Amino acid sequence: MDQNNKNEEDYGYQLFPERNTQTFKKGSFAKNLFTYNHKCQVMLKFTLDTSPYAKLLLSAMKRSGCTVNKDRHFSCEDCDGTVSGGFDATTSQIVLCQNNIHQQSHMNRVVTHELIHAFDHCRAHVDWFNNFKHLACSEIRAANLSGDCSFSNEIVRLNLGIKQHHQKCVRDRALRSILAVRKVSREDAEKTVDEVFDSCFNDHAPFGRIPHSRRDAEHAYRDFQNRDRYYANL
Ligand SMILES: [Zn+2]
Repeated sequence: MDQNNKNEEDYGYQLFPERNTQTFKKGSFAKNLFTYNHKCQVMLKFTLDTSPYAKLLLSAMKRSGCTVNKDRHFSCEDCDGTVSGGFDATTSQIVLCQNNIHQQSHMNRVVTHELIHAFDHCRAHVDWFNNFKHLACSEIRAANLSGDCSFSNEIVRLNLGIKQHHQKCVRDRALRSILAVRKVSREDAEKTVDEVFDSCFNDHAPFGRIPHSRRDAEHAYRDFQNRDRYYANL
């Protein structure tokens, strides 16, 4: 038991208090929970139906033999602090923090970010717990390809800059994600991120390019479908 609890802490599960408890509270809190949960489900469905980022990732995973099921692989839950989501590799589930996601655009981004982790998990058999480089690489890819650092998001953060800035944003966000889920020193995290940065930053699968906007993602999705059709004709 102790050992388990300790591991859970190390892997950041303390941020997702509902992960291991089945407790439900009564009264208005439960009502709020239901409302939040319902809203989260509706926004999730909208993302899966309409986001070209999500549709491309789901298609690519399906092709690799990892079919994603909305009810089985997504879970809307309350989370601690300001985390928006997470990928639980032990259950292959994406956690969406219903108490911290209030806008559709935010839901789109979180789902895309976590689907990139799921895609990496499906494609590369990532060793999330023992190989720190794997985690760092997936966080770099998620920050780079999900739109976390896209232009409009950066304007919102009043952080306008040149192209180099995109790389800096990706590095910062990857670091922040790692430090949120692992008990490592900032120094160690920086060292690992820098070691794998170039190869992971340049790995754009399954998009084929960095999707800086919804239009980019739509083009990438269309290309992916065409590629599929081409292979089907062979
Ligand atoms: Zn992440």
